[in-house]
Amino acid sequence: MNQIEIDGLSFELLISSKEIKSKVSSIAKQIIFSHKRDLPLCLILLNGAAVFAAELLKHLDPSIEVSLIKVHSYEGEQSAGKINIDYLPYDILFNRKVMIIEDIVDSGLTFNFLKNELYKNGAKDVLCVSLLFKPNKYQYDVLPEYIGFEIGDEFVIGYGMDFNQKGRSLKHIYKNIINLN
Ligand code: 5GP
Repeated sequence: MNQIEIDGLSFELLISSKEIKSKVSSIAKQIIFSHKRDLPLCLILLNGAAVFAAELLKHLDPSIEVSLIKVHSYEGEQSAGKINIDYLPYDILFNRKVMIIEDIVDSGLTFNFLKNELYKNGAKDVLCVSLLFKPNKYQYDVLPEYIGFEIGDEFVIGYGMDFNQKGRSLKHIYKNIINLN
């Protein structure tokens, strides 16, 4: 399946499930190597990172702790890009090394906002692992510590990522053929 259509938009294959699996395993090795003495508390950013996190966590130490974060952003006239937190496990952050698991870091607003929020609420260290990263769109100085694939500016779906809430169940990652940006 090299090309698919969802709600009138065409997408073509960008990264196959085989490439994703092998990348996830190599990211896991880096994380294990650097954090075996002080395992991070993993916070999965819903909904997009659920599929990536499920695969990544299989490779990590069975005693690693996992919880969830859910946010939404809205684009009002005076609040473009504002992030609202729907769920964050504030009660377990104190003095913890935390690792946010993201599907994709684009402008970096979500990651940098969450990083601040976690530090403000007692985390001693905040790291980020993101399967995908858009370097041309990123607007901050500090990069996520672990990145799977750097991609262009294209809009992608599959492997947990959606278009109109559809496409999350696709096993490969696809990119939009017509540039939406
Ligand atoms: P940022 O705050 O870094 O600009 O955006 C991060 C969030 O925007 C991601 O967690 C994801 O939900 C969404 N996002 C950014 N780029 C894409 C994309 O190409 N495809 C999809 N499906 N979501 C994206």
